[in-house]
Amino acid sequence: MPSRTVVRAKLVIPSAGAKPVANGAVLVEDGRIKAVGPRAKIDRLAKGGRVIDAGRHTVMPGMINLHVHLDSLCGPDFLTSALLMSEANAVMTCVHSAQQTVRAGVTTVRDLGTKYAAAIAVRDAVAKGWITGPRILSAGVVVCMTGGHGWFIADEADGPDDVRKTVRRNLKRGADCIKVIATGGVLSPGVEVGSSQLDPDELEVAVREAHKADRRVAAHAIGNQGIKNALRAGVDTIEHGCYLDDEALALFKKTGATYVPTLCAPHFLHEHLAEVPEYARRKTMQVYEAHRASFKRALRKGITIATGTDAGTPFNRHELFATELSLMVALGMSAEAAMEAATIGAARAAGIADQTGSLEVGKTADLILIDGDPRKDIAATKRVAGVMARGELIAT
Ligand SMILES: [Zn+2]
Repeated sequence: MPSRTVVRAKLVIPSAGAKPVANGAVLVEDGRIKAVGPRAKIDRLAKGGRVIDAGRHTVMPGMINLHVHLDSLCGPDFLTSALLMSEANAVMTCVHSAQQTVRAGVTTVRDLGTKYAAAIAVRDAVAKGWITGPRILSAGVVVCMTGGHGWFIADEADGPDDVRKTVRRNLKRGADCIKVIATGGVLSPGVEVGSSQLDPDELEVAVREAHKADRRVAAHAIGNQGIKNALRAGVDTIEHGCYLDDEALALFKKTGATYVPTLCAPHFLHEHLAEVPEYARRKTMQVYEAHRASFKRALRKGITIATGTDAGTPFNRHELFATELSLMVALGMSAEAAMEAATIGAARAAGIADQTGSLEVGKTADLILIDGDPRKDIAATKRVAGVMARGELIAT
Protein backbone atom coordinates (compact mmCIF):
# COMPACT_ATOMS: atom_id res chain seq x y z
CA MET A 1 0.00 0.00 0.00
CA PRO A 2 1.39 3.41 -0.91
CA SER A 3 1.47 5.93 1.93
CA ARG A 4 -0.94 8.76 1.13
CA THR A 5 -1.34 12.16 2.71
CA VAL A 6 -3.78 14.89 1.76
CA VAL A 7 -2.85 18.46 2.67
CA ARG A 8 -5.88 20.75 2.59
CA ALA A 9 -5.76 24.54 2.76
CA LYS A 10 -7.80 27.67 2.19
CA LEU A 11 -5.37 28.59 -0.59
CA VAL A 12 -2.98 26.39 -2.54
CA ILE A 13 -0.38 28.12 -4.76
CA PRO A 14 1.09 25.34 -6.92
CA SER A 15 3.78 27.57 -8.39
CA ALA A 16 4.77 31.22 -8.51
CA GLY A 17 2.72 32.69 -11.33
CA ALA A 18 0.32 29.73 -11.52
CA LYS A 19 -3.36 30.09 -10.78
CA PRO A 20 -3.96 29.48 -7.07
CA VAL A 21 -6.64 27.03 -5.95
CA ALA A 22 -9.09 28.27 -3.32
CA ASN A 23 -10.12 25.52 -0.90
CA GLY A 24 -7.53 23.33 -2.52
CA ALA A 25 -5.57 20.28 -1.58
CA VAL A 26 -2.39 18.42 -2.44
CA LEU A 27 -2.22 14.65 -2.61
CA VAL A 28 1.16 13.24 -1.59
CA GLU A 29 2.00 9.62 -2.29
CA ASP A 30 5.27 7.99 -1.21
CA GLY A 31 6.94 11.36 -0.83
CA ARG A 32 5.87 12.70 -4.20
CA ILE A 33 3.13 14.99 -5.44
CA LYS A 34 0.39 12.90 -6.94
CA ALA A 35 -2.23 15.59 -7.59
CA VAL A 36 -3.08 19.23 -6.86
CA GLY A 37 -6.57 20.70 -7.19
CA PRO A 38 -9.90 21.49 -5.56
CA ARG A 39 -10.47 19.72 -2.25
CA ALA A 40 -13.42 17.58 -3.39
CA LYS A 41 -11.51 16.22 -6.36
CA ILE A 42 -8.39 15.43 -4.32
CA ASP A 43 -10.47 13.74 -1.60
CA ARG A 44 -11.98 11.43 -4.24
CA LEU A 45 -8.54 10.52 -5.57
CA ALA A 46 -7.07 9.99 -2.12
CA LYS A 47 -9.47 7.23 -1.02
CA GLY A 48 -8.56 7.68 2.61
CA GLY A 49 -5.03 8.23 3.84
CA ARG A 50 -3.83 10.74 6.35
CA VAL A 51 -5.32 14.23 6.22
CA ILE A 52 -3.49 17.38 7.27
CA ASP A 53 -5.86 20.30 7.44
CA ALA A 54 -3.94 23.55 7.09
CA GLY A 55 -7.20 25.46 7.65
CA ARG A 56 -6.82 29.17 6.93
CA HIS A 57 -3.16 28.80 5.95
CA THR A 58 -1.69 28.97 2.47
CA VAL A 59 0.19 26.05 0.96
CA MET A 60 3.08 26.93 -1.36
CA PRO A 61 6.23 25.20 -2.61
CA GLY A 62 9.10 24.84 -0.13
CA MET A 63 11.65 27.61 -0.47
CA ILE A 64 15.25 27.32 -1.71
CA ASN A 65 18.34 29.06 -0.36
CA LEU A 66 21.07 28.94 -3.00
CA HIS A 67 23.85 30.26 -0.79
CA VAL A 68 24.50 28.97 2.73
CA HIS A 69 27.42 27.85 4.88
CA LEU A 70 25.94 25.22 7.16
CA ASP A 71 29.05 24.85 9.33
CA SER A 72 28.88 28.45 10.54
CA LEU A 73 27.04 29.63 13.63
CA CYS A 74 26.72 33.20 12.35
CA GLY A 75 28.82 34.82 15.07
CA PRO A 76 30.36 38.30 14.68
CA ASP A 77 33.88 37.08 13.75
CA PHE A 78 33.62 34.62 10.87
CA LEU A 79 37.41 34.30 10.43
CA THR A 80 38.24 33.38 14.04
CA SER A 81 35.30 30.97 14.33
CA ALA A 82 36.39 29.24 11.13
CA LEU A 83 40.04 29.00 12.21
CA LEU A 84 39.10 27.44 15.55
CA MET A 85 36.53 24.99 14.18
CA SER A 86 37.28 21.27 14.41
CA GLU A 87 35.93 18.70 11.97
CA ALA A 88 33.60 17.22 14.58
CA ASN A 89 32.35 20.66 15.47
CA ALA A 90 31.76 21.46 11.80
CA VAL A 91 29.58 18.39 11.35
CA MET A 92 27.47 19.07 14.43
CA THR A 93 27.04 22.72 13.44
CA CYS A 94 25.84 21.61 9.99
CA VAL A 95 23.29 19.30 11.62
CA HIS A 96 22.00 22.11 13.82
CA SER A 97 21.87 24.60 10.92
CA ALA A 98 20.06 22.08 8.74
CA GLN A 99 17.34 21.72 11.37
CA GLN A 100 16.95 25.48 11.80
CA THR A 101 16.82 25.90 8.02
CA VAL A 102 14.08 23.41 7.24
CA ARG A 103 11.88 24.53 10.13
CA ALA A 104 11.89 28.00 8.55
CA GLY A 105 10.34 26.62 5.37
CA VAL A 106 13.52 26.16 3.35
CA THR A 107 13.33 22.64 1.93
CA THR A 108 16.45 22.87 -0.26
CA VAL A 109 19.80 24.59 0.23
CA ARG A 110 22.91 24.87 -1.86
CA ASP A 111 25.86 24.90 0.52
CA LEU A 112 28.62 26.99 -1.05
CA GLY A 113 31.48 25.80 1.06
CA THR A 114 32.14 24.15 4.39
CA LYS A 115 35.70 24.05 5.74
CA TYR A 116 35.97 20.25 5.87
CA ALA A 117 33.29 19.50 3.22
CA ALA A 118 31.10 18.56 6.20
CA ALA A 119 27.95 19.49 4.29
CA ILE A 120 28.49 16.48 2.01
CA ALA A 121 28.20 14.01 4.91
CA VAL A 122 25.25 15.93 6.31
CA ARG A 123 23.59 15.94 2.87
CA ASP A 124 23.82 12.16 2.81
CA ALA A 125 22.53 11.81 6.38
CA VAL A 126 19.47 13.92 5.52
CA ALA A 127 18.87 11.91 2.34
CA LYS A 128 18.99 8.66 4.32
CA GLY A 129 16.50 10.04 6.83
CA TRP A 130 18.94 9.89 9.74
CA ILE A 131 18.52 13.56 10.57
CA THR A 132 16.05 16.36 9.89
CA GLY A 133 17.06 18.85 7.27
CA PRO A 134 16.51 20.32 3.84
CA ARG A 135 17.73 18.68 0.63
CA ILE A 136 21.37 19.76 0.49
CA LEU A 137 23.44 20.41 -2.60
CA SER A 138 27.04 20.87 -1.57
CA ALA A 139 29.97 22.59 -3.26
CA GLY A 140 32.36 20.71 -0.99
CA VAL A 141 35.24 23.08 -0.25
CA VAL A 142 35.57 26.53 -1.84
CA VAL A 143 38.29 26.99 -4.49
CA CYS A 144 40.34 30.19 -4.10
CA MET A 145 43.79 31.45 -5.03
CA THR A 146 46.53 31.35 -2.38
CA GLY A 147 45.58 33.96 0.20
CA GLY A 148 42.33 34.62 -1.62
CA HIS A 149 39.02 35.53 -0.03
CA GLY A 150 37.98 32.83 2.42
CA TRP A 151 41.38 31.03 2.35
CA PHE A 152 40.68 29.90 5.94
CA ILE A 153 37.81 27.68 4.75
CA ALA A 154 39.01 27.06 1.18
CA ASP A 155 41.31 24.86 -0.89
CA GLU A 156 43.94 27.22 -2.29
CA ALA A 157 44.92 26.64 -5.91
CA ASP A 158 47.15 28.56 -8.34
CA GLY A 159 47.36 28.15 -12.08
CA PRO A 160 45.01 26.18 -14.33
CA ASP A 161 46.54 22.77 -13.51
CA ASP A 162 46.22 23.28 -9.78
CA VAL A 163 42.66 24.61 -10.11
CA ARG A 164 41.74 21.62 -12.28
CA LYS A 165 43.06 19.25 -9.64
CA THR A 166 41.26 21.09 -6.85
CA VAL A 167 37.95 20.96 -8.71
CA ARG A 168 38.48 17.25 -9.36
CA ARG A 169 39.24 16.68 -5.69
CA ASN A 170 35.87 18.27 -4.85
CA LEU A 171 34.11 16.08 -7.39
CA LYS A 172 35.84 13.05 -5.84
CA ARG A 173 34.49 14.08 -2.42
CA GLY A 174 31.01 14.05 -3.92
CA ALA A 175 30.35 17.74 -4.55
CA ASP A 176 27.12 18.62 -6.37
CA CYS A 177 28.49 21.93 -7.63
CA ILE A 178 31.68 23.99 -7.53
CA LYS A 179 32.31 27.35 -5.85
CA VAL A 180 35.10 29.59 -7.10
CA ILE A 181 36.35 32.89 -5.70
CA ALA A 182 36.62 35.52 -8.42
CA THR A 183 37.19 38.59 -6.22
CA GLY A 184 38.05 39.71 -2.72
CA GLY A 185 35.41 39.68 -0.01
CA VAL A 186 34.11 41.47 3.05
CA LEU A 187 34.96 38.87 5.70
CA SER A 188 38.64 38.29 4.88
CA PRO A 189 41.19 40.79 6.21
CA GLY A 190 43.92 41.87 3.80
CA VAL A 191 41.92 41.52 0.57
CA GLU A 192 39.93 44.26 -1.09
CA VAL A 193 36.40 43.63 -2.39
CA GLY A 194 37.10 45.26 -5.73
CA SER A 195 40.20 43.18 -6.52
CA SER A 196 40.05 40.29 -8.98
CA GLN A 197 41.33 36.96 -7.66
CA LEU A 198 41.25 33.71 -9.65
CA ASP A 199 42.40 34.64 -13.17
CA PRO A 200 40.31 34.15 -16.33
CA ASP A 201 42.26 31.01 -17.32
CA GLU A 202 41.81 29.55 -13.82
CA LEU A 203 38.08 30.30 -13.84
CA GLU A 204 37.73 28.80 -17.32
CA VAL A 205 39.36 25.54 -16.33
CA ALA A 206 37.18 25.31 -13.22
CA VAL A 207 34.04 25.77 -15.28
CA ARG A 208 35.20 23.27 -17.91
CA GLU A 209 35.98 20.59 -15.32
CA ALA A 210 32.68 21.11 -13.50
CA HIS A 211 30.58 21.19 -16.66
CA LYS A 212 32.29 18.05 -17.94
CA ALA A 213 30.92 16.33 -14.83
CA ASP A 214 27.51 18.00 -15.33
CA ARG A 215 27.99 20.16 -12.22
CA ARG A 216 27.24 23.87 -12.03
CA VAL A 217 29.59 26.61 -10.94
CA ALA A 218 28.88 29.44 -8.50
CA ALA A 219 31.29 32.36 -8.40
CA HIS A 220 31.80 34.64 -5.43
CA ALA A 221 32.18 37.95 -7.27
CA ILE A 222 31.88 41.41 -5.75
CA GLY A 223 34.19 43.64 -7.83
CA ASN A 224 33.25 44.57 -11.38
CA GLN A 225 36.22 43.05 -13.25
CA GLY A 226 35.96 39.74 -11.36
CA ILE A 227 32.23 39.54 -12.12
CA LYS A 228 33.00 39.90 -15.83
CA ASN A 229 35.87 37.39 -15.66
CA ALA A 230 33.52 34.86 -14.06
CA LEU A 231 30.69 35.47 -16.53
CA ARG A 232 33.04 35.21 -19.51
CA ALA A 233 34.40 31.96 -18.08
CA GLY A 234 30.83 30.61 -18.16
CA VAL A 235 29.85 30.34 -14.49
CA ASP A 236 26.20 29.55 -13.80
CA THR A 237 25.57 31.91 -10.90
CA ILE A 238 27.16 35.12 -9.68
CA GLU A 239 27.06 35.44 -5.90
CA HIS A 240 26.81 38.97 -4.38
CA GLY A 241 27.55 40.92 -7.60
CA CYS A 242 27.91 44.23 -5.79
CA TYR A 243 29.33 46.22 -8.71
CA LEU A 244 27.24 45.55 -11.82
CA ASP A 245 27.53 47.89 -14.78
CA ASP A 246 25.86 47.70 -18.21
CA GLU A 247 28.61 45.50 -19.61
CA ALA A 248 28.25 43.00 -16.75
CA LEU A 249 24.46 42.99 -17.16
CA ALA A 250 24.86 42.37 -20.89
CA LEU A 251 27.10 39.40 -20.07
CA PHE A 252 24.38 37.98 -17.82
CA LYS A 253 21.96 38.22 -20.75
CA LYS A 254 24.44 36.66 -23.14
CA THR A 255 25.46 33.73 -20.95
CA GLY A 256 22.13 33.09 -19.22
CA ALA A 257 23.78 33.17 -15.80
CA THR A 258 21.61 33.78 -12.74
CA TYR A 259 22.25 36.55 -10.23
CA VAL A 260 22.15 35.53 -6.55
CA PRO A 261 22.47 38.88 -4.78
CA THR A 262 22.57 37.64 -1.14
CA LEU A 263 21.17 40.96 0.11
CA CYS A 264 20.96 39.47 3.60
CA ALA A 265 24.74 39.31 4.00
CA PRO A 266 25.44 43.07 3.99
CA HIS A 267 22.02 43.73 5.56
CA PHE A 268 22.80 41.84 8.77
CA LEU A 269 26.38 43.13 8.88
CA HIS A 270 25.03 46.65 8.50
CA GLU A 271 22.61 46.08 11.40
CA HIS A 272 25.48 44.97 13.64
CA LEU A 273 28.35 47.16 12.46
CA ALA A 274 29.63 47.88 15.96
CA GLU A 275 30.03 44.18 16.73
CA VAL A 276 32.05 42.98 13.71
CA PRO A 277 35.84 43.30 13.14
CA GLU A 278 37.06 46.64 11.79
CA TYR A 279 37.92 45.33 8.31
CA ALA A 280 34.43 43.85 7.91
CA ARG A 281 32.81 47.07 9.12
CA ARG A 282 34.82 49.18 6.65
CA LYS A 283 34.10 46.92 3.68
CA THR A 284 30.39 46.55 4.53
CA MET A 285 30.06 50.32 4.42
CA GLN A 286 31.99 50.34 1.15
CA VAL A 287 29.71 47.87 -0.69
CA TYR A 288 26.33 48.45 0.96
CA GLU A 289 24.83 51.15 -1.27
CA ALA A 290 26.58 49.97 -4.45
CA HIS A 291 25.13 46.50 -3.90
CA ARG A 292 21.60 47.81 -3.55
CA ALA A 293 22.02 49.95 -6.66
CA SER A 294 23.33 46.90 -8.58
CA PHE A 295 20.30 44.88 -7.54
CA LYS A 296 17.95 47.58 -8.82
CA ARG A 297 19.87 47.79 -12.09
CA ALA A 298 19.69 44.02 -12.57
CA LEU A 299 15.97 44.11 -11.84
CA ARG A 300 15.37 46.86 -14.40
CA LYS A 301 17.33 44.94 -17.06
CA GLY A 302 15.33 41.78 -16.44
CA ILE A 303 18.31 39.66 -15.32
CA THR A 304 17.29 36.30 -13.84
CA ILE A 305 17.53 36.66 -10.08
CA ALA A 306 17.28 33.86 -7.51
CA THR A 307 17.47 33.75 -3.74
CA GLY A 308 20.47 33.02 -1.56
CA THR A 309 21.34 34.63 1.75
CA ASP A 310 24.95 33.66 2.51
CA ALA A 311 23.56 32.30 5.81
CA GLY A 312 26.38 31.63 8.23
CA THR A 313 27.94 35.06 7.82
CA PRO A 314 27.65 37.38 10.85
CA PHE A 315 24.11 37.52 12.32
CA ASN A 316 22.77 36.05 9.06
CA ARG A 317 21.09 33.10 10.72
CA HIS A 318 19.90 30.09 8.80
CA GLU A 319 16.29 30.51 9.93
CA LEU A 320 16.12 34.12 8.65
CA PHE A 321 15.97 33.15 4.96
CA ALA A 322 12.68 34.92 4.23
CA THR A 323 14.30 38.26 5.08
CA GLU A 324 15.93 38.02 1.62
CA LEU A 325 12.50 38.10 -0.03
CA SER A 326 11.45 41.17 1.96
CA LEU A 327 14.70 42.95 1.06
CA MET A 328 14.20 42.20 -2.64
CA VAL A 329 10.64 43.51 -2.52
CA ALA A 330 11.75 46.63 -0.64
CA LEU A 331 14.15 47.32 -3.53
CA GLY A 332 11.41 47.09 -6.14
CA MET A 333 10.83 43.44 -7.00
CA SER A 334 7.19 42.33 -7.05
CA ALA A 335 6.12 39.89 -4.35
CA GLU A 336 5.21 37.36 -7.00
CA ALA A 337 8.67 37.63 -8.60
CA ALA A 338 10.33 37.25 -5.19
CA MET A 339 8.30 34.12 -4.60
CA GLU A 340 9.43 32.79 -7.97
CA ALA A 341 13.07 33.64 -7.20
CA ALA A 342 12.78 31.65 -3.96
CA THR A 343 11.11 28.59 -5.47
CA ILE A 344 11.07 27.52 -9.12
CA GLY A 345 13.59 30.18 -10.16
CA ALA A 346 16.13 28.97 -7.61
CA ALA A 347 15.42 25.36 -8.57
CA ARG A 348 16.20 26.19 -12.21
CA ALA A 349 19.43 27.96 -11.25
CA ALA A 350 20.55 24.89 -9.31
CA GLY A 351 19.48 22.49 -12.05
CA ILE A 352 16.86 20.70 -9.93
CA ALA A 353 13.62 22.10 -11.36
CA ASP A 354 12.61 18.56 -12.31
CA GLN A 355 12.63 17.63 -8.61
CA THR A 356 11.38 20.63 -6.64
CA GLY A 357 10.42 24.31 -6.76
CA SER A 358 6.74 23.87 -7.54
CA LEU A 359 3.85 21.61 -6.59
CA GLU A 360 3.67 19.63 -9.80
CA VAL A 361 2.82 15.99 -10.28
CA GLY A 362 5.89 13.78 -9.92
CA LYS A 363 8.05 16.27 -8.02
CA THR A 364 9.08 15.57 -4.44
CA ALA A 365 6.58 16.82 -1.88
CA ASP A 366 8.40 19.93 -0.65
CA LEU A 367 5.71 22.27 0.59
CA ILE A 368 5.10 24.78 3.34
CA LEU A 369 2.11 26.14 5.22
CA ILE A 370 2.28 29.88 5.76
CA ASP A 371 0.10 32.52 7.35
CA GLY A 372 -1.12 34.85 4.59
CA ASP A 373 -0.90 35.23 0.82
CA PRO A 374 2.73 35.81 -0.23
CA ARG A 375 1.64 37.30 -3.56
CA LYS A 376 0.10 40.21 -1.62
CA ASP A 377 2.30 40.24 1.47
CA ILE A 378 5.79 38.78 1.04
CA ALA A 379 6.32 38.82 4.81
CA ALA A 380 3.88 35.89 4.94
CA THR A 381 6.88 33.72 4.02
CA LYS A 382 8.32 34.55 7.46
CA ARG A 383 5.24 33.09 9.15
CA VAL A 384 5.79 29.40 8.54
CA ALA A 385 3.24 27.21 10.31
CA GLY A 386 4.21 23.85 8.86
CA VAL A 387 6.76 22.19 6.61
CA MET A 388 6.77 19.01 4.55
CA ALA A 389 10.14 18.07 3.08
CA ARG A 390 10.32 15.17 0.64
CA GLY A 391 6.94 14.02 1.93
CA GLU A 392 7.95 14.02 5.59
CA LEU A 393 6.23 16.35 7.99
CA ILE A 394 8.82 18.39 9.90
CA ALA A 395 8.18 19.40 13.51
CA THR A 396 8.35 23.20 13.55
ZN1 LIG B 1 29.23 32.66 1.03
